[in-house]
Formats: sequence, structure tokens, C-alpha cells
Amino acid sequence: MIATPAKPLLVGVLALQGAYDAHARILSDLGATSRLVRLPQDLDGLDGLILPGGESTTMLKFLERNGFFDCLQSYVKTTPTFGTCAGAILLAAQVEGPAQRSLGALDITVQRNAYGRQIDSSILTAETTLAGGPLEMVFIRAPRITRTGPGVEILATRDGSPTLVRSGNLMAATFHPELSHDPRVHQFFLDLVLQHKISI
Ligand code: GLN
Repeated sequence: MIATPAKPLLVGVLALQGAYDAHARILSDLGATSRLVRLPQDLDGLDGLILPGGESTTMLKFLERNGFFDCLQSYVKTTPTFGTCAGAILLAAQVEGPAQRSLGALDITVQRNAYGRQIDSSILTAETTLAGGPLEMVFIRAPRITRTGPGVEILATRDGSPTLVRSGNLMAATFHPELSHDPRVHQFFLDLVLQHKISI
């Protein structure tokens, strides 16, 4: 953990659709202030952003209004952003199963709904490089990360595929960390947000 800033970090949670409330609660438990982001101007002044789980195709439809997609694409190039599940799909460089538009910000390929019907929702506990021992991961119609580019650090895996990754200011999880009672993933993101804030 690094030094606490004088002012709480202000982290946005994209709230067009999906599981945004639980993220806002965890951010507040960790001492950050959250703002639900529904319009491009809601991105102004944020220290970081979470793209939650939900349905990426629906989110894309909303994002294609008001130039929101283009704003978000510029935003994630400069500011720490964490995509969970559908949010990870939005951040990815390539999306398969089927192919769809994405922000192309994080050098990974994801395959949507890749874990099959039988086990498409499950809870697993697996090793992680985050301090504090194994990590519970809740998967809901999860994508699989099928490729990671050279700058991508793998923080946790499931059956050999990365489930939690980080590259520079960007993070992605194919699971829902906001549904487990373990704040480590959000804390890791807030540490990135703080490092970025004090470096600019
Ligand atoms: N299957 C969803 C999609 O493709 C993602 C599921 C989730 O976010 N839990 O967008």
C-alpha cells in the first residue's frame, strides 16, 4: 500500500448497464469517492474508471450515442481504467466469439462466453500474485483471455488462461471481483490510480 492522498481518489464507474453498484460500494469501503458515469462529461476530473460487467453488446449500443465511444477511447489512453468481465471485453485489443468493436486499449484477445454453457457461471479459488494468498473468482458468462501481448502482466489464471491482467494503467478481470468479500483487486487498482495521480 502507498501513501494516502490528501483528497480521496475520485473513481468513476460506467453506469450504462450492468453490475456497477457493487463496485461503487467497494470503492467507498476502501476510502475512495465514486461517481456513476452515464455521459461523456461525467469523465471530467476522474482519477480512474471502472468498466463493470454486464452485457458488452448493450454497453456498446449506449456508447455509440453522443460520441461517448470516442471520448472513452481517448480517456482510457491516459487514465487508469479497470474492466471487469464485459468491461474487459470493451478494453481488449481484439474480441472473438463473435468479433465486435472494442476500445482496443489493452493488448489482449478475448473470446466471449468462452467457458461453455454448463460451467458458464462458477466460483473458483486460485493462486494469484497479489499478496495475501488464493483469490476467489466469480465467473458469470465470462470471457476467456486467449492472448496477452508482451507488456501484459498476469496476476491470476484459470486452467492456464489469464483471468486478471495489468498493462501500464490498465487492468482487466474476466471475473467479478465486486461480488467477493475480498477487496484486494480493487485495492490493487486504487494503488495504480494513486501512483498515476502523483506522477502527473
Ligand atoms: N457475456 C457477457 C458479454 O459478452 C459478459 C458477462 C459479464 O460481464 N458477466 O458481454
